[in-house]
Amino acid sequence: KKAKFPYYKTLDEFNISEQHSLSTRQIEQLKKLNWLDQQYNLILLGPPGVGKTHIAIGLGLEAVHIGYKVSFNTMGELINILKTQEYLRKSQLQLKAIKEADLVIIDYLMYMAMDQREANLFFHLINDLYERSSIILTSNKGPEQWGELMGDMGITTAILDRLLHRVEVIHLNGESYRIKNRSTIF
Ligand code: ADP
Ligand code: MG
Repeated sequence: KKAKFPYYKTLDEFNISEQHSLSTRQIEQLKKLNWLDQQYNLILLGPPGVGKTHIAIGLGLEAVHIGYKVSFNTMGELINILKTQEYLRKSQLQLKAIKEADLVIIDYLMYMAMDQREANLFFHLINDLYERSSIILTSNKGPEQWGELMGDMGITTAILDRLLHRVEVIHLNGESYRIKNRSTIF
């Protein structure tokens, strides 16, 4: 089963001169995907429109291209899959694909607050994936803010412990590419 991305853009289409917090060398390094074999995680942080999802998709496409299994879900979708897996066959299959993926992409983590049950389900998934697959997370909030969104400090610490054990964190900044490059009719 093929990974479904919200849009298809490659890393070659990423304009590195527009994103000063990232170097060509860093992109090239990530593109080699050695980190996938070592189950390293990647966390892409920054405000909206700076290229977090684009880079995640670009790396995902690169990984698919050389034969890795990749899954892509937004955090909202993921929580929904986890909550309905017990009675929805579709969710079961989606979860199976996520657990079998070499690279699990979770787009905009912590966009909304989670309740206790959701945080628990999320923890169990991260625990299952831990040391078996690489995870790319994109978020507009840094790990230091995840606690308040997940509610439970104990669970947050357990999740962070696993996610941050082997991780590369990239802070993207700057103006929204969408706004800078918006097309106008007039
Ligand atoms: P976010 O950081 O909110 O996830 P996206 O990665 O989705 O933002 O980027 C928003 C849009 O701008 C996408 O269409 C993406 O391809 C484009 N974009 C962002 N940064 C760049 C860049 N440096 N070069 C080319 N396109 C970019
Ligand atoms: Mg995004």
